[in-house]
Amino acid sequence: MSCKTNEELTKLVEQARPFVKYGKVADYIPALKESNPDDLSVSICYLDGTRFFAGDYVKKFTLQSISKVIALAYVLIENGPNEVFSNVGMEPTGDPFNSIVKLETSNPSKPLNPMINAGALAVTNMFKGEDHYEKWEGFIQFVQSLLGIEEVSWNENVALSEFNTAFLNRSLGFFMKQYEIIHGDIEELLFLYTKQCAIEINCSQLATIGAVFANEGKDPVTQEVKVPSDVARICKTFMVTCGMYNASGEFATKVGIPAKSGVSGGIMGAVPHKCGIGVFGPALDEKGNSIAGLNLVQLMSDRYQWSIF
Ligand code: GLN
Repeated sequence: MSCKTNEELTKLVEQARPFVKYGKVADYIPALKESNPDDLSVSICYLDGTRFFAGDYVKKFTLQSISKVIALAYVLIENGPNEVFSNVGMEPTGDPFNSIVKLETSNPSKPLNPMINAGALAVTNMFKGEDHYEKWEGFIQFVQSLLGIEEVSWNENVALSEFNTAFLNRSLGFFMKQYEIIHGDIEELLFLYTKQCAIEINCSQLATIGAVFANEGKDPVTQEVKVPSDVARICKTFMVTCGMYNASGEFATKVGIPAKSGVSGGIMGAVPHKCGIGVFGPALDEKGNSIAGLNLVQLMSDRYQWSIF
């Protein structure tokens, strides 16, 4: 069964909306405190290009950790899996996304996967380019190509707010520099990473990117190859095993689709061979996932039988 009207999606949003009151917006990045905890919106993009929406689906928000999947795809394409997986592992941690603990206790101190902050910093450190400008241009052009648009913006206020307060991410960076997982200037890396996390997008665009991954790397409308199919497959696998932080197991059990969340309240889903999903709901649960968004994705998965398991 698939979604047929915006009205049925609106009903599911209204069913999930009461959960917003049990969550709270992220406040460790000061600029995110300004988000409206009552927001909840969704977009589905089917692989024939048909789209459905509910809520304020054009409202912009920042990618935050959702950018980690896109950055992973980018370095897998540019640098190849051998280099990428010599710097970052493939195993879930069971720890919060910003935890430092496994870096010290796991040997040889390489981050366990690219979806935690340590792993994402190691990934961004692999962006190719002579300087910050070239590294950023390469990445933002890749994001633009996924969306099929000429310009994608980033939110300077959010990026600087995170950059000025990202002491834990700096610690992860310095720790990995000590063990030669990361090379170069940590401040420059942090600036690149916080800009990457502050890329602005809306639900509809998030669903488009989800649909590219769902469609084995091809644009859902034009069928143009945006990401090689083996890269899309690796990204979806990480989304299942590590995409919802230390709630990935519960999410796989209850919802059963490749998905990635971010602390701005976004969730990107990629239902293989069916559709991409973009959800936005800034009120988060204690693990940093959108609380009403999770509920909404579960309602949709139950109704449209999305679980891949
Ligand atoms: N920019 C955020 C951070 O590094 C992203 C984390 C997230 O969305 N979970 O803390």
